[in-house]
Order: sequence, then structure tokens, then C-alpha cells
Amino acid sequence: MNKIVVAGAGGFIGGHLTRALKSIGHQVRAVDIKPLTKWYQLTPGVDNLVLDLKTRENCFQALNGYEQVFNLAADMGGMGFIETHKADCMLSVLINTHLLMAARDLGIHRYFYASSACVYNAEKQTDPNNPGLKETDAYPALAEDGYGWEKLFSERMCRHFYEDYGLATRIARFHNVYGPFGTYDGGREKAPAAICRKVIESELYDKNEIIIWGDGNQTRSFMFIDDCIKGILDIMYSNIEEPINLGSAEMVSINRLVDYVEEIAGYKLARKYDPDAPKGVRGRNSDNSLIKKYLGWEPSIPLKDGLKKTYDWIKEEMIKNRGKDPKQVVFNEM
Ligand code: NAD
Repeated sequence: MNKIVVAGAGGFIGGHLTRALKSIGHQVRAVDIKPLTKWYQLTPGVDNLVLDLKTRENCFQALNGYEQVFNLAADMGGMGFIETHKADCMLSVLINTHLLMAARDLGIHRYFYASSACVYNAEKQTDPNNPGLKETDAYPALAEDGYGWEKLFSERMCRHFYEDYGLATRIARFHNVYGPFGTYDGGREKAPAAICRKVIESELYDKNEIIIWGDGNQTRSFMFIDDCIKGILDIMYSNIEEPINLGSAEMVSINRLVDYVEEIAGYKLARKYDPDAPKGVRGRNSDNSLIKKYLGWEPSIPLKDGLKKTYDWIKEEMIKNRGKDPKQVVFNEM
């Protein structure tokens, strides 16, 4: 049993990770800036703290008495959010900086940092038939403006805390993660959840149309949350000292993603395209050679299977919260 802090535990991935760590017997402290009623999951037996981890004092309070840290806290969202909140995204550098300083000073043994495929050079993502981004494609650096540069800088800070202070840091570059208990509305949602929500809205509110950002031919790969959690744990407890891709290699266009969701829903919608909406890069996929070499494994849950579980959860939530002001929606009654 280890004493583990999960930063960003009120969010999508942090909520699932907290549950997984507790279920295998660890002592877990969960920390997030959001009020507890807004955390996607609350796991029984976990020490929950509501703290803003941008400040140094709060990071010391969060880590005091603990041994390991998973840092998943960041001010982030899908393309609609990161293209319009670059400064907010960059301010997450304060979270990782102060957590690393507290980890070093409090003798933390191991530290995981959640990086992103947004660190990759934009010039290597202009073709929708992207062959897969290798870890070396982050340099020469031309990351996603704002969010991606913050991730790249924070990756390097983790590396130097290892080299200079001996803090064992592990870094995974997530490629789009999706699943139940995550954001599906409000402006921070990512493509799979947004498309599920739009299709369900059509059913609940009798609309027959879906608006797709861009021409829908842009490509991405999407990793189901269960693969993400397995990958995080395997990378954390491995000897992998360099940033490594954690993503699915099943690349699809956004149009194909909509096809899949329509198949799950059992009906088709008229498609309207919004060329002025945020689109991100043209093509992105994960090259999994390195993770296969190190772990003999790669994320492999088929997109269709994961989407069905995600769709069912979002539909249940939308039916439950129909007609409510989003501010009044509560995930956990305290
Ligand atoms: P999320 O937004 O659901 O979770 C992030 C959590 O961090 C939120 O609950 C938020 O309240 C919390 N947070 C933000 N600022 C904070 C602060 N100052 N102090 C304490 N907590 C704070 O996002 P997620 O999808 O769970 O992502 C987790 C991590 O993975 C993030 O670092 C994100 O950048 C990274 N990532 C996610 C994806 C993805 O597809 N979901 C892809 C690449 C990287």
C-alpha cells in the first residue's frame, strides 16, 4: 500500500484514477479546485481536499505526509476551450511547478505528469492520413499555442527535477481520452462527448440536424478511459524515463466518429458543417512503437465499444438533468 495524492481528482481522468488506486488498496488523497458537488466521482474512503493547486502553500498542504503524486490537474478542455483560453491554459504551469517543488522538498518518491499530444509539432499534423506521431516529433518545437507549450515546458521541468534533484518523474502524452464521468457540455467537452450530446439532444428535443466543426475530414485517435488508467499505472511504475505516447492508434475522421454515434443511437441526422469553428490540426494519430517496446502493450479497446458506454452514460445524465440550469447540476450530493 502506498500513500498517493491525485491532483485533479474531481475531473474526468483523475476521478477514474482515484477509484482505481483505492480499489487496489492504496491510501489516496484526492485534490481539486472544484467544490465536491461538482466532482464527477467521489470514492468512499478517500481523503478529499478542495484546494487551488496554483499556490505553493496549497501544494505543500496537499502533499504533506504522502509518498507519490499523480498530477492530472489543469485548466483545460477540447479545442473550443483551448483555442480561446490560451492564457488560462498556460497558468496551469503554476500547478505543476508548485507540485514539483513540494514533491522535492517533502521527499515524494515518484511523480506522474499528464502531458498531451498537443505538444507535437503542428507541421507534422497537416495530413489527415497521419502515419502516427513519434515521441521525437515534439522537436523542433511548434506545439499547440498556449495549452501545448505549457505541457511541453512542464514536461521539461519534470525531466530536470529528475536530473537535478533525483525526483523520479514519469510523463505520458495522452491522445484524446473519452468515457463516462467526463465533461459533455458547457464548452470544455471534447469531440466524442460533444457528438454524443448533440445526437442525444436531437432525440430529446426532436431536432434532426447536427453541426460538425470544420469539414469533418480532420482525423484523430480516441482512447477509452479504461485503457488510459491501465497505461497511467503501468507507466508510473515502469522505468520509462522519457515522455511516452499513451493513445489509441485507431485513427478516424470526425465524420466517421459521427457515423459510429448515429449507429449507436439508431438514427441518422442531417449534417451541417461550420468552417469557422475551432478545428485544431488536420490529422493526428499515436505511434505506439515505444509503448509496445517498453510495456508489450498498447491501448486497444475498440472505439465503437467505448463510445457505446460513453453514449449510454451521457444519455442517462441528460435525461436526469433535463430542464435544469447547468449551474444547479450536482454530481455528488454531500
Ligand atoms: P478535467 O478538466 O476533467 O480534469 C482536470 C481537473 O483539474 C478538473 O477537475 C479541474 O477542476 C482541476 N483543476 C484545474 N485547475 C486546478 C487548480 N488550480 N487546482 C486544483 N485542481 C485544478 O480533464 P481530464 O480530461 O481529466 O484531464 C486530466 C489531465 O490530462 C489534464 O492535465 C489534461 O491536460 C490531460 N490530458 C487530457 C486529455 C483528454 O483527452 N481528456 C488529453 C491530453 C491530456
